[in-house]
Amino acid sequence: MNLPYGTGHSQVLVLAAGGPGELYRDSVYPNGCFGSLGLALEAGIELVNLTESQFGIGTRREGFPWNLSGTYVQAMPHVYSIDAEGREHHFLADYYRSTQELASNLFRKGYQWPFHATRMLDFGSSLVDLAIYRESAAGRRVLMDYNRNPMPVPGDLPFSLDRLDDDVRQYLGTAGAGQAQPIDRLRHMNPLAIELYRRYKVDIAVEPLEFAVNNQHMNGGIQVDRWGRSSLAGCYAVGEAAGTHGVTRPGGAALNAGQVFGTRAAEHISACRMAKSAPLGDMTDLAEAGVVELLAVLRPDSPLTVKAIRTQVQARMSDCAGMICDAESVALALREAGRLNAEISQKGIASGHSAEMARALQWRQMALASEAVLGALDFFIRHGGGSRGARAICDSQGECIPGTRSGPLQEYRFRKEREAHRSEQVVVKLEDNQLKISTRANHTFDENVRSFFERDWPAWLTGKVYDT
Ligand SMILES: Cc1cc2nc3c(=O)[nH]c(=O)nc-3n(C[C@H](O)[C@H](O)[C@H](O)COP(=O)(O)OP(=O)(O)OC[C@H]3O[C@@H](n4cnc5c(N)ncnc54)[C@H](O)[C@@H]3O)c2cc1C
Repeated sequence: MNLPYGTGHSQVLVLAAGGPGELYRDSVYPNGCFGSLGLALEAGIELVNLTESQFGIGTRREGFPWNLSGTYVQAMPHVYSIDAEGREHHFLADYYRSTQELASNLFRKGYQWPFHATRMLDFGSSLVDLAIYRESAAGRRVLMDYNRNPMPVPGDLPFSLDRLDDDVRQYLGTAGAGQAQPIDRLRHMNPLAIELYRRYKVDIAVEPLEFAVNNQHMNGGIQVDRWGRSSLAGCYAVGEAAGTHGVTRPGGAALNAGQVFGTRAAEHISACRMAKSAPLGDMTDLAEAGVVELLAVLRPDSPLTVKAIRTQVQARMSDCAGMICDAESVALALREAGRLNAEISQKGIASGHSAEMARALQWRQMALASEAVLGALDFFIRHGGGSRGARAICDSQGECIPGTRSGPLQEYRFRKEREAHRSEQVVVKLEDNQLKISTRANHTFDENVRSFFERDWPAWLTGKVYDT
């Protein structure tokens, strides 16, 4: 597909449409986040690091999407699940060996918010994520109750603010959060946290809060250079659309990255003087061809509906490409994703009114983005890729096993990350309607070479630094 930039006034396009939140069923993104990865693929633009994402606990977009990090868990509410018969389960007690260990790791979810495979080991804080994930997979609802302290692990002492790990006790002591109930500790440390949910008609001071492990961020995306330039001349990408977020993005870094690259792209576009120069040829034909190509996907008689595509893509991504993965289910999911895209190409998407037409186009691109993520993941796993950042790559031959108080969880045995994979990126590109997946060595950066004014400043003065 050709990308006719703007309306014929510019040779520059900046993709800044955010992350592909709609890819997953279990998602803490607001509704309607589609991003532009599918569009970029259709335009032949290279994507990188699609294997990297973030998952963590939060309330889903069906209600009010929000991460339960920071003081929400540092207040240490009681976490439990409810089964179909309405029975309560104190499931975290099946994982941790003592009430102190359970409460301390719940607290640590505050600043160790995203899931990380290695934190499932040694009774770490991601065992909380795994436990919640397993409860949800078993069809139970998971809740946190701010009017109850964590219940004791059977056979152990009850919860006490005096029986917490040193880092936790010190933090709460410094914060002055010695109140007896979680809701009072939360009110003391962050009263707005309670008000925030009240605004969305959920009063956590009165009723328990339902939550789950959700997808929250795409760390990969459009491959860009230091100025935000993509592999397509004149096309830039900034923010979550750009693949600049690495493997273990620290909280808060997404917004900063968007601001930094927004400024850099603007500076570069200005230096190139491209924004104000007219396109080289007549854009009308190109734009028309693009529109015709887009509209060709809309076919009233197609058996494929937007709803069916959405359900299929989101279920596949959450079930097979969430925080727990394995080679077999990813490979199967990839084949199914390929089949869906072939069917879309062949039969188009049914659409009625005009709003649905736009959704149909967005879902065509999401289906493609989903195949690209699964393709990158499959490639990574087939080449020995291990667990890092977002996902645990489960493997019966893996070196690591998460332990619980009643023994190791063999089915979650997982691979370690391979050192060599730290020096390369997985690159995905659509060529002749086929996903091409390869690796590219990371740029190296010599930390010892410091900037030197008299050597470096001339390149800024002359504009050489922009590499136009
Ligand atoms: C619950 C939650 C909590 C988070 N907390 C933090 C945090 O504490 N710190 C942090 O750094 N990051 C956080 N993030 C991540 C961060 O919010 C996002 O990465 C960041 O907002 C992305 O910014 P963006 O400008 O790239 O995209 P967005 O903010 O998503 O903006 C994209 C814009 O493009 C528009 N758009 C989309 N498609 C099109 C189109 N086709 N044409 C025209 N316009 C389009 C959208 O309407 C939107 O206005 C959080 C994310 C979530 C979901």
